Amino acid sequence: MNSTTKSKLQIDIVNVGHGDCIIITWRNNFNQENWHCIIDSGDGSTTANTSIDKIIIKRKIKKFDLAILTHFDSDHIGGFSNIIDKVKVLRYWSPYTPAFEKYLWLFGQRGINAIKRAKSIEEKLLKQNALIESPVEGCMLSPTDGLKITVLSPPIKIFEKLLEEKDIESLFGQYPTFLGDLVIDNNDIDLEQDQRLLVQSMYSRLFKGMIRRNLVEENKEINNDSTQINLGKIDIDKQLICNKMKVEPEFFGNNVLNDTSLVFKIDCFIEKKWFSMLFPGDLENWLYLIAKHSNILKSDFYKASHHGSKAYVGNDEAYDEVIQTIRPNITVVSANGKHKLPRIKTRNSLIRWSTNVFCTQNRCNEYFNIDGSLASSGNNSCFDFYKCKSKEGSICFKLEQNKISVNSQSCYGTYSVNNYPVIQFQQHLIPDDSILTRLTENEIIQQTKWVLNKLKVIHEERKKGLKDLGSEAVTSSEIYSISLQENRNLVQKQIDQIFEYGYSNNYLWASNERGRWQKAYSTPGKDDIRVMWNIIKRADILLLNIKELQKGISSNILNASKDLLSEYIEKQTAFPKELVETYCWPLLIKTIIRNYECFGLTYTTYKSAYVWLLLVKYDKDYGTIMADMLSDFKTTFNLNDDYFYLNEDQKFYEYSKSFINEGNIIRICSSLRNDYNNKKSPEKLAISNIFEILNNKREVKIVRLE
Ligand SMILES: [Zn+2]
Ligand SMILES: [Zn+2]
Repeated sequence: MNSTTKSKLQIDIVNVGHGDCIIITWRNNFNQENWHCIIDSGDGSTTANTSIDKIIIKRKIKKFDLAILTHFDSDHIGGFSNIIDKVKVLRYWSPYTPAFEKYLWLFGQRGINAIKRAKSIEEKLLKQNALIESPVEGCMLSPTDGLKITVLSPPIKIFEKLLEEKDIESLFGQYPTFLGDLVIDNNDIDLEQDQRLLVQSMYSRLFKGMIRRNLVEENKEINNDSTQINLGKIDIDKQLICNKMKVEPEFFGNNVLNDTSLVFKIDCFIEKKWFSMLFPGDLENWLYLIAKHSNILKSDFYKASHHGSKAYVGNDEAYDEVIQTIRPNITVVSANGKHKLPRIKTRNSLIRWSTNVFCTQNRCNEYFNIDGSLASSGNNSCFDFYKCKSKEGSICFKLEQNKISVNSQSCYGTYSVNNYPVIQFQQHLIPDDSILTRLTENEIIQQTKWVLNKLKVIHEERKKGLKDLGSEAVTSSEIYSISLQENRNLVQKQIDQIFEYGYSNNYLWASNERGRWQKAYSTPGKDDIRVMWNIIKRADILLLNIKELQKGISSNILNASKDLLSEYIEKQTAFPKELVETYCWPLLIKTIIRNYECFGLTYTTYKSAYVWLLLVKYDKDYGTIMADMLSDFKTTFNLNDDYFYLNEDQKFYEYSKSFINEGNIIRICSSLRNDYNNKKSPEKLAISNIFEILNNKREVKIVRLE
């Protein structure tokens, strides 16, 4: 061991035209030997291969300790067979090939070619005894001293989905790629045994985030897979997706390949500090990464994703959101103007966030506005705008003794390693974009489903008596703590959005107080409302107090206090009183009006007026009772004809004509929870008088609902 040897990191961004090829050379001060890693291999063209060969010779590379294919795409896989022929590869990583091989019938020609090429590279490497692996999110390892690799994506769930043919239409049939449901941990297994076989095999090879590939077995499994015939029937408008992506049909499925790129960080310990590099392959949709890993995306060095193309979070373009999460000091773009890449929007966003931008192309033209502001070019690629020309050779970053040296000029330089003050200033320039806190539609749907499930569980627990029957619905802070328990970590703002979304789309009931969504509950269904009606209709008379009588029966019933009644319904159905009063009651009004006659009762003392709604069921003939009761009421309180009722005179008259059979049971459900023996308050007095009238004077037995 030579203790004077310093740690040294070299990052070669090989100029392969349109495509990616990065070669990392690392030497830790304890190691005598260099550790070499190659990430992607260009498109396989002679010029690209020559550029790679030059670096291999320059760095005296005899073996690659690790070769990584970020995804199956020709501009990344093309040069590998050339490399393998010349340099030994000890270890090889790629996405899990069988998950894509299963869809050869679906991909455009470009995808098919790349997947087949990947297969042949794997076969070749197998013969050379290379270790072939597919790491997934959660894989962390330190293949050599002072260097660690953390894989952030793809999640194994996406391979599982592909292998078991789950949600294939939404995965392939949407652009940007639909990733929202990956954020949710959904462990339901509901598939036929034979469809799960491929998944089970994959999991049997998984250990600590690493799938150890077994090509022989995988081939057998894919050949025996009988489910592909059924898959042919799925309904995806390929042309529509290609139009959205603005690509030829041969590119169909390319976004799925891009969004299943291996995304990983490499950290090197150099000069008492970790230097972190982020390699996202051709990732387009950052939704999953930002939702799950925003805390560890921050990197010193960033290989711009997808050759500086569009960055999405869900359905929205989100350049700033992505770059403000990564906050790199150095960003490298590998592109040459093909496919209009890199996009000037990407470059401008990088500049806004004060990163030093390097590109495999040289800017040959400058623009600036007279006032010094950034000249813009609309939607062009910056390659066209700045009339760029290809750089001679590759870009090499050298990290040694706290210093980064680059053999090439930056496309844009802030020349500040500590860019914090600049960023702070920039933060005022860029309005806090809502995307990071505002969930995208897809994610909201998934989160709402989760909340809805929790609400249903809570309702079931209340029903079974496992949970106290509180009269309030479930509060947002309750949801918040459940989300923490389940590692979902929803923030208050997100819960607000979920409640709002669920409420406005009729998925759940929620209450908004002072502009904030405070409580929610699982919405009662038609059957639940019917049960409530059955409870109500057992009462022959409903006595509800109300502040003042209004025009129209329904508005009176709507505004009447239902305190005791809704409490009673809560006990019977487990739906909180609050929900019964605000949600269910309005749904019941029509039925109540159809079945009950509604009267308004008022009486005044020298101090104030008291008002009740008296609802009497049609199917009992209470005409006389009502007439007598009201007149008694009138005399008792000396009301001088100022009582009134809400229905037409004729109906009331009809009631008055007939007589009630002695001994009938009248059930009264009152809205008041008074002790009726206490006759001190005039309100109570009035109520007890009604009972008295019905109970004693008319010799009718009254049973109050409890
Ligand atoms: Zn690419
Ligand atoms: Zn790609």
